[in-house]
Amino acid sequence: MSFTLHGIGISSGIAIGRAMLLSHATLEVAHLTITARQVDKEIARLDRAVDEVRTELLALKAHNDHASTAPSELMAFIDLHVLFLADPELVGATRRIIRERLCNAEWALVQQMEHLVEQFEQFDDPYLKERKYDVLQVSERIIKELLGRPGRVSLRKARDMAEESCVIVAHDLSPADTVSFKEHHFAAFVTDVGGVTSHTAILARSMAIPAIVGLANARAMIRDGAALIVDGARGVLIVDPDEQILDEYRIRKEQLELEREKLKRLKSAAACTLDSVDISLLANIELPSDTRAVLDSGADGVGLFRTEFLFLGRGDMPSEEEQFEAYKKVVKDMNGKPVTIRTFDLGGDKTPDTQRTPTNPALGRRAIRLSLVEPKMFQMQLRAILRASRYGKVKLLIPMLSHARQIDAALTAVETAKASLRKEKIAFDEAIEIGGMIEIPGAALAINMFFKRLDFLSIGTNDLIQYTLAIDRSDEQVASLYDPLHPAVVMLIAHTLSSAEKAGVPVSLCGEIAGDARFTRLLLGLGLRFFSMHPSQIMSVKSRVIQANVAELAPLARRLLRLDETEKIKEAVEKLNQMPGIR
Ligand code: PEP
Ligand code: MG
Repeated sequence: MSFTLHGIGISSGIAIGRAMLLSHATLEVAHLTITARQVDKEIARLDRAVDEVRTELLALKAHNDHASTAPSELMAFIDLHVLFLADPELVGATRRIIRERLCNAEWALVQQMEHLVEQFEQFDDPYLKERKYDVLQVSERIIKELLGRPGRVSLRKARDMAEESCVIVAHDLSPADTVSFKEHHFAAFVTDVGGVTSHTAILARSMAIPAIVGLANARAMIRDGAALIVDGARGVLIVDPDEQILDEYRIRKEQLELEREKLKRLKSAAACTLDSVDISLLANIELPSDTRAVLDSGADGVGLFRTEFLFLGRGDMPSEEEQFEAYKKVVKDMNGKPVTIRTFDLGGDKTPDTQRTPTNPALGRRAIRLSLVEPKMFQMQLRAILRASRYGKVKLLIPMLSHARQIDAALTAVETAKASLRKEKIAFDEAIEIGGMIEIPGAALAINMFFKRLDFLSIGTNDLIQYTLAIDRSDEQVASLYDPLHPAVVMLIAHTLSSAEKAGVPVSLCGEIAGDARFTRLLLGLGLRFFSMHPSQIMSVKSRVIQANVAELAPLARRLLRLDETEKIKEAVEKLNQMPGIR
């Protein structure tokens, strides 16, 4: 039976494919041997986790009992999963393994789960065969409970299906999980949780694949291999669609592909407005391999290299040499075009496996704050970036700056790295430009301290919105409040741009709104001249740039600053976009 789920579309486009459920249950849990004296404690841990999962499932059922729209399949799954929790073949047998083989609870459960999955696979009856997925899902929930944190997903099952037709269905994906998708060619992904500008969402856009987050219970309701339509623009997921709907979506998919093809003709066109203002359209990248897409897009350079992705999903830190090779590759590939390399923005939702996750990660030791307390790690990166600077036009960008003394400390660190290279007679660009990210409201308001110290600035609206409105960018529960057109956000952007113009300091904008063509006219009117975005967005933004007249837009944008409510600003921006000259 077909059913439709609604979530938050984070990356537009249409995908038609089959569900590949990502299981955390197959993640590598620790294999520990316990002593006989620890057995009772370990069994108690297992029982506690099982109780927690039962409570969670019953709460989910009670919640959906109220929501009349909840599909009956969901209720049936929940009932079945609660039954599994009481099945001696799952929990009872796991207890026995703990006692007899002296295994930790997670490892004992994985062994029993694998045994049961094998048994279900032997059945000829397709219904019974399918029940292995219930075993996997229930075990996964218990393991997550035991671990007390979401585990890293495993892509082992990807081998069974052609990647191009796989729609990843997961409860949650960390940025480290998602960045590993870059090596694959999945059709789309959908998750139960997640926010619009979480780094997971950013990665989906960078891969130009449709994606939906915040689907609530999708992972529990969708069967592995189910036919799916993902409509990323609308945030709609259709499960087991009928032929008529499939045909409709096939046609829409073709139309979208046609439009994209048409836009590609703009690749070599200059990004120049109707009144001859040159605009730089730059690319955001996460990995060195992204340069191919950058070159294909005709971008004017790399405006943001999120280097922290080199540090994620591994148990150690990349060495100076490894980093140097990565940066050098990007710089050489860009062949003289500017490459802005941002020092690692680790912490927040991008905490490496080697670091403790703080209580409030977004407000914790993130980005430059971490760099300054990890001088060895910071020096290693600075040296690697400086060494790469001799191969082209490198700019160094420091994230999350807020205090003058922090900027000074960062600049001192750069000087230390330069001095060490000079001493070793290693060449680098002595005149390398150093910039700072404006992504904290306090930084935007006290912008003068940046002008005095830095060569350029880059506005990170993803965080600027998060911190201005106190909205966790990764949390789908507050996603509706995450608003780029809130008057406070627009004011901070406008203030940064106009102050920088007076000070003669160039400013780029590298948050997600730079690549969203709905904001292009507004940003041009506010004075933005350097836009940095995913390569796949360059053409659509360029199509807006070449039909804009900055002299006309500037007074309109200024007038819009007087509006005191989001809705009014939204209306005004829509009007701007409908003015003649815009398609
Ligand atoms: C931003 O905050 O807008 C930004 C570009 O940085 P990131 O998304 O990596 O935090
Ligand atoms: Mg940021």
